[in-house]
Amino acid sequence: MAIEPASNATPERRIVLASSNPGKLREFEQMLAPIGYTVVPQSTLGIADAEEPHGTFVENALAKARHAARRSRLPALADDSGICVRTLGGAPGVQSARYAADPAGGAADRAAQDARNNAKLIEALRPHLDRRAHYYCVIVFMRHYEDPEPVIAEGAWNGEFTDTPRGENGFGYDPYFLLPDFGRTAAELAPEEKNSVSHRGKALRRLIAKFKEGV
Ligand code: IMP
Repeated sequence: MAIEPASNATPERRIVLASSNPGKLREFEQMLAPIGYTVVPQSTLGIADAEEPHGTFVENALAKARHAARRSRLPALADDSGICVRTLGGAPGVQSARYAADPAGGAADRAAQDARNNAKLIEALRPHLDRRAHYYCVIVFMRHYEDPEPVIAEGAWNGEFTDTPRGENGFGYDPYFLLPDFGRTAAELAPEEKNSVSHRGKALRRLIAKFKEGV
């Protein structure tokens, strides 16, 4: 992945990540460090999360990447992702991070928000036998905030949403996301194992392949 610098200095090896989600940060670091890139979470530069007002993952990812690139003056990587449950018409979808409202109305603690989201999804699925779900991720890379050619890649990961949590790894919906082929939940996979099959891992590998093709 050769990222053209804004000037003709040495190529920029730092990429700002347009997210403050520590789970995503860990996964991007694990996948980008081996190829020589340093992921800088936007929060360490004092950049607040962007609004995500759109109804599609790709529009939200573009908004996040543009916001981070504008504020940081660095190349920016944004991921918008979520879990889509077939029998619920694709919900929670783009609302995955905020699926269950915080009853206190405040800025939610991430673990508490994840627990509420999972409890709400268990409840919504109680009457249904069809538990098929997939994670979806779109990654947008912008060389600078006015980049007219953002690089975009997607990935999906099929599984089922169970109502019994298992595993300690991952984040968000992972303890309930069962992989029939593995007989394990996403939270029972080692981090490298998750990256090798996950929606985010697939999207990032496709993005890197596009760079190698010279897109
Ligand atoms: P975003 O930050 O708006 O993209 O929201 C992503 C949300 O989708 C996260 O907060 C999780 O709730 C969920 N999500 C996305 N990817 C994963 C994953 O790999 N594991 C578990 N939950 C995920």
